[in-house]
Amino acid sequence: MREQHNTELPVVVIGAGPAGLAAAAHLRSRDVDVLVLESGPHAGAAVSEWGHVRLFSPWSELIDPAAEKLLAGAGWTSPQLARYPTGADWVASYLQQLADLFGNAVRYGTTVTAVAKQGRDRLVSSGRDEAPFTVHVRTAEGADHIRARAVVDASGTWTGPNPLGGDGVPAIGEANAAAHISYRIPDLRDPATRMRYAGKHVVVAGTGASAKGALIGLTALAKEVPGTRISWLVRRATVGEAFAGSGQDELPERGALGQRAQAAVQEGPVATLNGFRIARVGQEEDGRLAIESFDGQVVDGVDEIVVLTGFRPDLAMLSEIRLDLDPVLQAPRELAPLIDPNVHSCGTVYPHGAKELAQPESGFYLVGMKSYGRATSFLALTGFEQTRSVAAAIAGDHDAAARVELTLPDTGVCGGSGLFDDESADGGGCCGAPAGPELITIGRATD
Ligand SMILES: Cc1cc2nc3c(=O)[nH]c(=O)nc-3n(C[C@H](O)[C@H](O)[C@H](O)COP(=O)(O)OP(=O)(O)OC[C@H]3O[C@@H](n4cnc5c(N)ncnc54)[C@H](O)[C@@H]3O)c2cc1C
Repeated sequence: MREQHNTELPVVVIGAGPAGLAAAAHLRSRDVDVLVLESGPHAGAAVSEWGHVRLFSPWSELIDPAAEKLLAGAGWTSPQLARYPTGADWVASYLQQLADLFGNAVRYGTTVTAVAKQGRDRLVSSGRDEAPFTVHVRTAEGADHIRARAVVDASGTWTGPNPLGGDGVPAIGEANAAAHISYRIPDLRDPATRMRYAGKHVVVAGTGASAKGALIGLTALAKEVPGTRISWLVRRATVGEAFAGSGQDELPERGALGQRAQAAVQEGPVATLNGFRIARVGQEEDGRLAIESFDGQVVDGVDEIVVLTGFRPDLAMLSEIRLDLDPVLQAPRELAPLIDPNVHSCGTVYPHGAKELAQPESGFYLVGMKSYGRATSFLALTGFEQTRSVAAAIAGDHDAAARVELTLPDTGVCGGSGLFDDESADGGGCCGAPAGPELITIGRATD
């Protein structure tokens, strides 16, 4: 497979988040011309949207090694590595400072709408490998396209939250109830958000780390503001798995989050409804909402709904690119078995790189959160290793691309929607937090 095309053109990286900027740093360290396109007004725009959330990873696991070298050369002061930043800290103390080193090579307010091969739609094979990519963008000035020798899609999944509907399709009435539905962990320090939920009947859907964070916050609010109550709608038959293993998670803050959420649910005004697969959201006469499951259970008198049921990748912008994705996870086919709870039941997940991420479209790579498709176990550290390997492959350094240079925390707890869904499951929340009883070992590939 050819890796080098049109070497006078830049490599375009889509997204100035943690993975995109790490890709840029690795490419820059190999003297490869790089252009980062970011839809938001600044670096880490998606992370900023959950800026109030404290990460379960310490700083030592949130800084890419190539980025660190670039920053250190520019006089950057590293944060204390053992501390746990919030999303806002991650942006201010690392991501934006890293992006600033690239000057005009990071373009903000530039939304990628499509990626294609110049003058060739998906069907045309003739001269395809030699043709540059055309990255179609929308900016304040209008539409344009940028030519690229290779494309690294690090656009994340933040813009694609899963809907409330239990079958992955928006529930009937979900759109009509939009004013009372949020797909984000509420920032309860914000007075307007606090007002929105204080004294209300709030439904939380989802069992991942984001849902746990929301339950902790809302039950604390309920202690302060009488009348606040929570209905926790859980697709699985019991919530046991949602908390199982929290005490063994070797990402200690992630484990602690699970334990705090369990205590919050036990102590707070939380009604847990298991096996609740949402079909419909109706409006009651008094304007409140009634949520109905496929098997006819109803939760009524609902004021607000917080949907934290995971994310899905935007593949529409890649419709003219030849992709080979796993039909279940929508992740690169070679990567999927390493991260799919349906097939490996949380055994060993090896760090991976260009080989697993490569696509039939030579020179195109998915990295970061988006590369995991609908799987929920992505960690920033994994993304840093992906980008190191992909940058090496693009630069033609195939030995370095094939090497594994990752030290991950040894284990984490695993278990996602597919694994538990038959009788007892729910989708993960924000980022994988794990809900299952088995330990996942993240080790080094030896071959
Ligand atoms: C609440 C939460 C907590 C998390 N906590 C941790 C943790 O503690 N430890 C950990 O290792 N991981 C954690 N993660 C998981 C993961 O590391 C982060 O989600 C991380 O931000 C993923 O990085 P990314 O660069 O792949 O994607 P993102 O951070 O989503 O960045 C993608 C970027 O692309 C931009 N973009 C999107 N679409 C386009 C487009 N069409 N054109 C141009 N730009 C576009 C976005 O604006 C964004 O800036 C957490 C995730 C969430 C949601």
